[in-house]
Amino acid sequence: MTKTQNRLIEMLTENTGVHFLDSGMSNGRHWQQNQGHTLSEWQNRPSALLDTDYGTSVTLDVFGFLSDRLRLSEQAEQVQAQFSEFIDENNYSLWDCSAMEEFAQLVHEPSTLERTPEIVNTYNFENLLSQVLQFVEFEINGVQFVLLQIHGGADVRGGYTAPQVFEVLSEYWIYQSTEALISCADCGWYATLNGPDFYDPDGLQVETKFYELKACPECQSYKLTAEAPEAY
Ligand SMILES: [Zn+2]
Repeated sequence: MTKTQNRLIEMLTENTGVHFLDSGMSNGRHWQQNQGHTLSEWQNRPSALLDTDYGTSVTLDVFGFLSDRLRLSEQAEQVQAQFSEFIDENNYSLWDCSAMEEFAQLVHEPSTLERTPEIVNTYNFENLLSQVLQFVEFEINGVQFVLLQIHGGADVRGGYTAPQVFEVLSEYWIYQSTEALISCADCGWYATLNGPDFYDPDGLQVETKFYELKACPECQSYKLTAEAPEAY
């Protein structure tokens, strides 16, 4: 178990409360469902799940997805301490995302990441992640960071964790939240899912639309599985 994984588990089990708009049943909130897993259960979670019960869908496990792409480095911890000071000095709330954005803009020294840091909420675009993320990216001395909150509630308007700084290991990490590898256990067919479309190993678009996929296009087997994409 790495320090990054430990911190992610703390976030995923953090009591993010019960918001007044929260429509979750008594134990329906993500942070409640994430309670009580052993370390090996966390590490052995499948990276993705394929569900063909009600229209075909894939879910990427947010724990595995983030573990492979972010790191709680020493430098990230230093920036986290800076962020805590910033919150205290300005009497801001930790859960105010405009404070996250203001901090990111203050410390941002762009070299490769030119754009002005802005809050991104994954609820606002199509993706396969099992939980909603809210974050702002910035760069210091050529190192890319993310100040991240994970949504643990049942209603997207409330129920975020306290923000945590991580170093970003792969520049395109969030773009991979729309991707999955789909393969057939019987004939070895596989394709990369990106949005609603499939691409074969040569990068050519496969005719099948993902939501219409019920069986393997090659051998008609129902033994299809999904995996998270390799981090790049
Ligand atoms: Zn097959």
